[in-house]
Amino acid sequence: MARKRVYEIARELGITSRELLKVLAELGMEGLRAVSTVSEEEAQVIKDLLLEHAGKAEAPGKPGREGTEAGAEEAAQEEAPQAVEAPPAEEKKGVPRPPVVAVLGHIDHGKTTLLDTIRKTRVAEREAGGITQSIGAYQVEYNGRTITFIDTPGHRAFTAMRARGAQVTDIAILVVAADDGVMAQTVEAIDHIKAAGVPMIVAINKIDKPNANPDKVRQQLADMGFVPEEWGGDTIMVHISALKGDGVDELLEMILLVADLRDIRADPGGELEAWVIESHLDPSRGPVATVIVKNGTLRVRDVIVVGTTWGRIRALVDHRGKQIKEATPGMPAQILGLSEVPQPGERVERVKSPKEAEKIVSQRREAQRKPPEARFPRTFEELFAQKEKKRLKLVLKAATVGALEAAKLELGTIRIENVDIELLHAGVGPITESDILLAASVEEGEPLVVGFGVRVDPKAKRAIEQYGIPVRTYEIIYDLIQDIERAGKRLLGPQYVETKVGEAEVLRTFKVSGVGVVAGCRVRSGKVIRNGKVKVIRDGEEIFTGEIASLKHFAQDVQEMKEGQECGIRIRDFDKVKPGDVLEVYEVKVIQPA
Ligand code: GDP
Repeated sequence: MARKRVYEIARELGITSRELLKVLAELGMEGLRAVSTVSEEEAQVIKDLLLEHAGKAEAPGKPGREGTEAGAEEAAQEEAPQAVEAPPAEEKKGVPRPPVVAVLGHIDHGKTTLLDTIRKTRVAEREAGGITQSIGAYQVEYNGRTITFIDTPGHRAFTAMRARGAQVTDIAILVVAADDGVMAQTVEAIDHIKAAGVPMIVAINKIDKPNANPDKVRQQLADMGFVPEEWGGDTIMVHISALKGDGVDELLEMILLVADLRDIRADPGGELEAWVIESHLDPSRGPVATVIVKNGTLRVRDVIVVGTTWGRIRALVDHRGKQIKEATPGMPAQILGLSEVPQPGERVERVKSPKEAEKIVSQRREAQRKPPEARFPRTFEELFAQKEKKRLKLVLKAATVGALEAAKLELGTIRIENVDIELLHAGVGPITESDILLAASVEEGEPLVVGFGVRVDPKAKRAIEQYGIPVRTYEIIYDLIQDIERAGKRLLGPQYVETKVGEAEVLRTFKVSGVGVVAGCRVRSGKVIRNGKVKVIRDGEEIFTGEIASLKHFAQDVQEMKEGQECGIRIRDFDKVKPGDVLEVYEVKVIQPA
């Protein structure tokens, strides 16, 4: 007997899966997911329950609610959507915005084919005479809703943008070929998606091939902690044939579902947030940049600043090559009118006037001319010098699987109080540009790229220069572990250790005008030192902790006084010292991390 997905039921009811699941949870039917399948009968029960619930949610006292079945259904059909669409408690601002989707995965697993198929089958027809030309992203309509796809597949492009600070992607599609399974770049892509913190949908592709083995893919992903929903986990996996188009609808459905769950919203009237995703110099049109608007609305004639360039928008062109007047949230659009070509990943900012734009741009250019102040420490030594950060985020590359596993095991044994060592990505092979980009995209904590018995490839070297990422390679595992441990400890900065060096008893006190109260003391034991810390003990209780501001022997400033000697001690910011108080003196030593 045919089975139904929960999201299909939602569609039939004209509501979103999220709304449906919410109501079902309220009715005690928890644990269902949008992709859960139910029998036809269960589907009917769910529908009935929902219609009944919708009826109850209706204004009380309305007659005819307990009417005939047909009547109830009829009533519910027009009323159910409103009834369950009651605003959730913490309503986010704005209106739902099309999600921005990126496609990642191993080479040849079908990323480009998938993007092409979706574009071909889903993008509304161009007007005759329009120019077919990719602008770097496109939008499709599905079930009356819109999804934005970034046209450049792969995690390199994905992370390059993040490395520049851009937050463009809302949902990542991981394409895994069912005839090939999880490969090195699949693992890389997963780590890049995880680091970005965006939700992931797995598209198990090439399902049309005779040697396709989707269960193997599922098993491999489950082994990595991504358990498919149908096995009780929460990773959405969809079977597709990018080539033939099978399963693409379901994939789009899942994208919309995740978008609903994430409650992706934007305020078209709000502050502009837009990012450059592609740019080039067009011989006839000048600098051209494709941007994706994530909030607010970009309009023709707006004055914008992008990195170190600016311009007044001369024209906006949509993904079908059509001129538009404005780009609303979720929309990709080409911008014409910039004075220079901006970098992908740069943010588009709207300013009030060309004058303001010029000012910002010239300030930024000036700042660039100064010695490069990298976003990240350029060397281990500089990294070590940083104090507050306490999270070390590692990208680890090794020559072989065995070496990688050994290094991971050793890493797992490092324990440093107040320092978390997080493995962003571990892989076999040389240190690549994408490793550096991943490290450069770290927002919290300190990135570190280490190689064990591997080299740094030439493209990566350029990225290291550009982003100033600390990178080191090792031939001996012990050295690698020791250095990481050291790097972790240095994140904590210098440690301070207090040692008690002596005690003095207050014999008398006197006021010195313009200075404060000085305590005339005798050193009872040990010594009193001039730059020491002091605790004031009265009747056995500590009443103040501070520093010695001055130490004098008669009128002379002295460095230290020994047991039995008398001296004048002034405590910084403390004038309430009394005869009989005991001053405990401590020396503070700074221990620089090794
Ligand atoms: P990419 O490197 O991930 O972008 O992979 P491509 O989209 O270029 O696809 C690599 C090859 O796999 C091409 O020859 C595609 O025609 C083929 N391919 C992609 N998707 C499918 C599919 O669903 N079924 C089959 N049989 N072949 C596919």
